[in-house]
Amino acid sequence: MRCSHLRLDPRGYPIIAVIPQEPGEEDYGALSEQRKLVLAAYDLCAVCAMPFRDELRWQVTFDDQLQHMGETPTFNEAPEHEVCALYAAQVCPFVSSPHARLGDAQRKGQRRAETLVLAGFDSTAAVYGHDSELQVGKSILMFDMAGLRRTHRLTGADDARQVYEAALLDEVPIQLDDAEQRIVDLLCAPTPEEGEDPGAVMAGATWFIGAAFCPRIRQVQAMNKFAEAKDDLYFQLAANFLFEPDKMAEWEDASDPSTAAAVSWFRTRESLPTVLQQWRVAGARRVRDSRGRRPRLSDAAIVSQRDEAAIRRRQEAESALRKGRRKKR
Ligand SMILES: [Zn+2]
Repeated sequence: MRCSHLRLDPRGYPIIAVIPQEPGEEDYGALSEQRKLVLAAYDLCAVCAMPFRDELRWQVTFDDQLQHMGETPTFNEAPEHEVCALYAAQVCPFVSSPHARLGDAQRKGQRRAETLVLAGFDSTAAVYGHDSELQVGKSILMFDMAGLRRTHRLTGADDARQVYEAALLDEVPIQLDDAEQRIVDLLCAPTPEEGEDPGAVMAGATWFIGAAFCPRIRQVQAMNKFAEAKDDLYFQLAANFLFEPDKMAEWEDASDPSTAAAVSWFRTRESLPTVLQQWRVAGARRVRDSRGRRPRLSDAAIVSQRDEAAIRRRQEAESALRKGRRKKR
């Protein structure tokens, strides 16, 4: 299955991509902002760390919450594949219990939600730093989602299991190219030398390829190390790469594996994920060279190509499947 490459914790649960995962200190009750940045930059699923391709991107909501969230609802969690969201809904207490990530004091007096509503969107519309609603004075990364296509309303464990098993039957294996495989491998294993959660080094590497220009990224505390680096190294290198993308070639054999992998990945994309490209466009508006000129982004893939044929195939397959299921009942 899609999560089979993830490390397992001592209880045998896969260690999902978005949680802080210092070996031995994996924390299912928390989200790693550094890992969220990496997932956003490479357009990866928050559970299995694999790319979305043209699959819908799913978020978790409760009861009628979605109706009050507007056209492009904002979430503090990174999106997931359908099958991964359904898997997490079954096994993860922090998904199936809406307030599990809040402290006891905050949880008191809050009504327990009755229906878990998984919502599948066409695209991730934007990713940016924003004040956290849960923790005063802290900024976290937010994900705006666009194009709500489908929902799963789950009212109990049996429900969740049935829908999950149906989704498993439709699961399409995701083929990775070499550069993608390197990113996924790095993200899902402790760092080779120090044996640490690779989230930090990988987040730093994404700054170089464009995450440095994510709006309000400097306000996110987990990014302090990069925001406050000597000579603003992370931002400056990202700006230099905007002006001279060819210079990235020199970093493909950088001693830091995360940097080498990030640059190799970037240089082998036909098109960039929409969110990363948005950050780079925002960056190009902000930086100037010594003669006051702005970078031109023409040599990087500007617009993410939507594979319309693949999207149509998926939609047809889905509607055929839905019809089939209705008949069975
Ligand atoms: Zn996934």
